[in-house]
Amino acid sequence: MTGFGTAWMQQIVPEPVTSATVAELDLERLRAQLGRVPRGARAIPARCGDRWPAVVETDPRLPDGTPFPTFYYLSCRRLNAALSTLESEGLMRQLAQRLTTDEQFAAEYAAAHQSYLSAREAVGHVEEIDDYSAGGMPTRVKCLHALVAHSLAAGPGVNPVGDIALAEVTRRGVWPHSGQCVDVDTDNAGANG
Ligand SMILES: [Zn+2]
Repeated sequence: MTGFGTAWMQQIVPEPVTSATVAELDLERLRAQLGRVPRGARAIPARCGDRWPAVVETDPRLPDGTPFPTFYYLSCRRLNAALSTLESEGLMRQLAQRLTTDEQFAAEYAAAHQSYLSAREAVGHVEEIDDYSAGGMPTRVKCLHALVAHSLAAGPGVNPVGDIALAEVTRRGVWPHSGQCVDVDTDNAGANG
């Protein structure tokens, strides 16, 4: 990119909200888990086997200026796969149904939405995603991965839907898991593929 191009970009792209504190080893592992280096990674609020990143906390505004509402992104491969299974089994539909009949549950889920927004707001305010959190909050259930990522980052008792999904994968013996999340040795071996 030319100097002229950069100066022009700086005029129209909002300031990125970034701290870039994620260590090189974690970025390398995130690449192995996700197949790419996540943009705007700022912290690792939860870990899985062998201290691999399980959740990556992301800047609310990516380095290129894009607003990014998903503050907590689930990177654990095993958890991602297990939650996809739960989704295909219809757990989201069940939980969405419960939100319409269980007032306490619905209130806790709405509070989880506010908690999510507050945590992200503490990093930086991004107007475009002002009242938008993740996973379908505050009234819908659209992505167990995002909701479990919130549960892992915030701890138990914050996100009731994420907590239920996490309890189910725990019951199934998927979480917590030991050992490396992804076998990177084969990748590093190069000639062995
Ligand atoms: Zn893992």
